[in-house]
Amino acid sequence: MRFLSDEDKASLARAEEKLPRTPLPTQIVSSDEYAPIPQTKKQREAEQRLYALAEKIAPKHNMSRRRFFQSPMGMAAAFMAINAVYGCALAVDEGEASDPDAAQARADGLAGQFIMDMHTHFLRDDTRLTGFVNMRAAVGRQGWNPDLGGEQTIEHLKFANYRREIFMDSDTKVALISSAPSDIPEDWFLTNAQMAEARTRVNNEAGSKRLMTHAIFTPGAPGWLEHLQASLELKPDSAKGYTVGDNTHKETARYPWRMDDEAVAYRGYELMAAAGVNNVCVHKGLWNHALDTRFPHLAPYADVRDVAKAAKDWPQLNFIIYHAGYRLGDPERALAEFEQTGRIDWVTDLAEIPAAHGVSNVYADLGQIFAQTLISQPRLCAAIMGTLVKGLGADHVCWGTDAVWTGAPQWQIEGVAPSGSAGGYASRARLCTAGRGRRRGENRDLRRQ
Ligand SMILES: [Zn+2]
Repeated sequence: MRFLSDEDKASLARAEEKLPRTPLPTQIVSSDEYAPIPQTKKQREAEQRLYALAEKIAPKHNMSRRRFFQSPMGMAAAFMAINAVYGCALAVDEGEASDPDAAQARADGLAGQFIMDMHTHFLRDDTRLTGFVNMRAAVGRQGWNPDLGGEQTIEHLKFANYRREIFMDSDTKVALISSAPSDIPEDWFLTNAQMAEARTRVNNEAGSKRLMTHAIFTPGAPGWLEHLQASLELKPDSAKGYTVGDNTHKETARYPWRMDDEAVAYRGYELMAAAGVNNVCVHKGLWNHALDTRFPHLAPYADVRDVAKAAKDWPQLNFIIYHAGYRLGDPERALAEFEQTGRIDWVTDLAEIPAAHGVSNVYADLGQIFAQTLISQPRLCAAIMGTLVKGLGADHVCWGTDAVWTGAPQWQIEGVAPSGSAGGYASRARLCTAGRGRRRGENRDLRRQ
């Protein structure tokens, strides 16, 4: 389980431990699948502005800074701080940050909104993926976070905390539990059976359908079709695969595959279609430039060039591309590239598929990428959203957070949620692009969202 080297990990703090300090992370957070870039100058500036706002506002309400950050006012203040640094990025007004009643009214007004998060995780009880624990311990040793003095455990990444963070600490109403495969059986995040068990547990407790599941499939791995057939009997709500194969152990991954491989992947689609499992989720992207040279045998499988033919050949299936194929890396570089060329690696390639190939069964998931770009470069976040909405259609862009890698997903929900005080049901993240879009057509499409 080496997404990041030990050295990478020792230099990181876990998002969860950073979160309570400010309402949303002021530096890029990692899903342990890649090394996040260090806090940028702008992010540090946003953090300082947020602390300044807290110092100004909190005493007026007899609140500690900590208490302020936990309140809806604190969340609004965080978005104001981001706006101050990046320019108009998020719809929020000063009233929300300084008037507890206004802030609470907004939060209460939105609490009932229907939020379906189709990309969430927890780890099996017997997980060997202890990287997270090591990271917590390393952070404690370095003294970056004084709260981390005690013994660190992996319990935060298991079911009980998942249940709390998704269903109690956020407005999420329905979630889908996902997993990731490995060539080493015990290193699957969760087995397909474990996901099905979690679904039964949550739904029985809730008395309604609150948790859905993936069944992970692994084209080309030994016995994969038999495994898929058995997994389909668990009645998963959708299937999910990783074209790079073992994403957890990239260095030993032996079974990368292509979505458009008629001899391999198509045999799996046949089984899924026959079982009535029509949603095929595929992990793409989160593949920064450094990985091209580190894992050249997997690099050709990480992008989205194999999506179009599969979508065309299988109109009865929906192909939901996780992480929207976004590569991740330096957000400033990605934004500069977008401003020059109008393109985002490999998001634009994905978004162009419907127009180029006449298909309507390609979807994008926002897991991780909305979170990452919202806090590191909100204009890039808006550019990604605009590109996806324009190319795939608003109803083909799916909400996913990759929680609980980054703690409870509420701060992400706040980032995309409608803003009552600033223009009806406009998403916070949306207004920036509508006001700043480079092409008139783009703006029009965004307003339709
Ligand atoms: Zn994920």
